[in-house]
Amino acid sequence: MRLRIGALRSHGPAGGATGYCHCRRCQRRTGAAASAQARVPPGSFIVTAGLELIREWAPEREFAKSFCSRCGAQLFSHHPTDAAIMSVRLGAFDEDPGVRPSYRQRVESAAAWEPLWDDGLTRYEGPSPGVAER
Ligand SMILES: [Zn+2]
Repeated sequence: MRLRIGALRSHGPAGGATGYCHCRRCQRRTGAAASAQARVPPGSFIVTAGLELIREWAPEREFAKSFCSRCGAQLFSHHPTDAAIMSVRLGAFDEDPGVRPSYRQRVESAAAWEPLWDDGLTRYEGPSPGVAER
C-alpha cells in the first residue's frame, strides 16, 4: 500500500506559514540540511489512505513527529496537547501542495556542508516568529 497524503482543502490561502527549518533535529530527522514544512489550518489536512501505517515519535513537551512505518517517510508533526496545530512536511505530498517556503528558521545551526545561498527568503537565526514549534 502506498501512503497518500491529501491536504489543504481550505478556502483562501492554501496553507499557513511555510518554510525551512535548519535545526539539528530536523537535519537528523531528514538526513538533509533542512526540513521544508507548512503549518496547515486546523481541519484542512486529511490522510486519504494508509492511516494504519503511521507511527509517531513524541518527544516530551515538543511536537510529535509522525512517519510512515513502511517506508520511513517523514509526514507531519503536531502540537503535544492540541493535534489540530500541525505542520506537514512538503516532501510528504504526492503532488504540489500549492504553497512555497517564505522563510528559513534556525539558520544559526545551518549545516556547514551546505552553505545557504541568497534565495531571497526571510532568515531567522532562531525560530520564526509565531512558528517556534516544529
Ligand atoms: Zn527544525
